Amino acid sequence: MGGMIELDRRHPLAVDLKSFGRRPGTMESGELTVPTPSGVGTEVMQVPEGSEMDLDLRLESLVDGVLASGTVHAVAEGSCVRCLRELTEPVEVDFQVLYVWPGGKNDPEAEPVDPETQEDVRELDGDLLDLVPAIRDAVVPTFPFQPVCTPDCPGLCDRCGEPLADDPDHGHEEIDPRWSALADLR
Ligand SMILES: [Zn+2]
Ligand SMILES: [Zn+2]
Repeated sequence: MGGMIELDRRHPLAVDLKSFGRRPGTMESGELTVPTPSGVGTEVMQVPEGSEMDLDLRLESLVDGVLASGTVHAVAEGSCVRCLRELTEPVEVDFQVLYVWPGGKNDPEAEPVDPETQEDVRELDGDLLDLVPAIRDAVVPTFPFQPVCTPDCPGLCDRCGEPLADDPDHGHEEIDPRWSALADLR
């Protein structure tokens, strides 16, 4: 009963459901390696567009749509907000989204979203199941607002800009401001 998932190559990351049975109970699963779509990240941390992303994906046909669930594996890049050192962080995050058939989401007789499971609900674009928003919504909230290389990163020296972690004891000679003005003249 389980088929293999094939991506629609005309879209960055979408499954064409034309060949996918609408009969409840139909299931497909697969492990896919795909180029990361754009926008999977924040200002300070992101999975670079085009870098390899592994997806364990499972699609299950339900009465009112298709339940997509799985795990995203990728590597995020960013920089420490204190010392600007480059960071790479492995990403492993689960997602579960119910894609309802077009028109189903606004159907007053449709089952409401279960507040217990907080299941994410999206509407299918025709026969196209676009995974990009689901992946963004799963991955981006796992990133810290203020990534740091180590929790006690001392940041940069405010005099010379060197990372203090490299040379914690370094200091700068205090120069009398009057002498400093003379030095500037030279
Ligand atoms: Zn740092
Ligand atoms: Zn310094």
